[in-house]
Amino acid sequence: MKEKVMLTGVRPSGNLTLGNYLGAIKNFVDKQGTYDSYIFIADLHAITSPKNPQKLKAAIYDCVAMYLACGVDPKKTIIFKQSDVLEHGTLGFIMTFQTKMGELNRMTQFKSKSQAQHKEGVDTGLFIYPTLMVADILLYNTSIVPVGKDQQQHVELTRDLAERFNKRYGETFFMPDVYITPIGNKILNLQNPLEKMNKSDNGNNKGTIFLMDDIEVAKRKIMCAKTDSLGKVHFDEENQLGISNLMSILSKITGEDFESIEKRFDGKGYGEFKKEVAEVVANLLTEIQTKFNRYRDINLLDEILLNGAKQAQPTASETLKRAKKALGL
Ligand code: AMP
Repeated sequence: MKEKVMLTGVRPSGNLTLGNYLGAIKNFVDKQGTYDSYIFIADLHAITSPKNPQKLKAAIYDCVAMYLACGVDPKKTIIFKQSDVLEHGTLGFIMTFQTKMGELNRMTQFKSKSQAQHKEGVDTGLFIYPTLMVADILLYNTSIVPVGKDQQQHVELTRDLAERFNKRYGETFFMPDVYITPIGNKILNLQNPLEKMNKSDNGNNKGTIFLMDDIEVAKRKIMCAKTDSLGKVHFDEENQLGISNLMSILSKITGEDFESIEKRFDGKGYGEFKKEVAEVVANLLTEIQTKFNRYRDINLLDEILLNGAKQAQPTASETLKRAKKALGL
């Protein structure tokens, strides 16, 4: 066993985006092997709002195939489905009872998503899903959680609840840290850079690059990205959000720093810059899609998920036993 544990997850709720890849999956892949690594399909989190069962099933397989296509290696990483390890539900239930309503009320994800649901009434799942995430993280004695900026608050809640539980009932949980990289932690919507790039993109999908987008469509989305009238390729999140977002995408994929990008495009127009970003994204998507089609084999994916759950379950079970004992259950 390696000294430290890394864990992350993605909801199988629609096609994965460039934001998911750059904000969470890439950081995980870059570090897998140096940690005991777990990545899970957050399928219980996908049912916080009603889903079509056939579509959800397909999305779960898509998500595993996408992990593999993005470079997650089942020899170095335990890949499993959250609902296959029953301990997630039980510890999630226990951790909900350690939480104040106010703590969940102030989660920014809840605030923004519940506003969108307001007309039909807000789903309870949306309210309590952070406590399931707390359980997801604590079950594996996780030390780092690579996520995008939008999930930072939930990892902080995990730390608060773990600390409270440990104080109240004795040392039970390991304290995790969030792992957020300075570049790419919040990829923005290409048409409205005031918003995060999301799987659901107000219906027209022009602001979101999906990893399975047709290559020409993806290129066009970059070429049509909203920028500004300043005409200078410069990283400035105050005044040039759109250009800064494209610079983050380029830098995160290629590793080139902002200074060097600014120098190369000094005196050149946005068109030339966007063309390069479009090419780099197109190459990335082409590679991912080729691998995705190779891995989208249900027998292979079932075997990986079955093995993953078998490997993940003993640690989850030990942690849950510890928590139950501490509680007197
Ligand atoms: P979700 O799609 O909400 O299940 O998110 C899965 C992971 O991707 C989480 O770690 C998110 O923080 C991350 N993520 C989602 N969208 C973005 C984005 N636009 N930029 C950076 N990270 C993101």
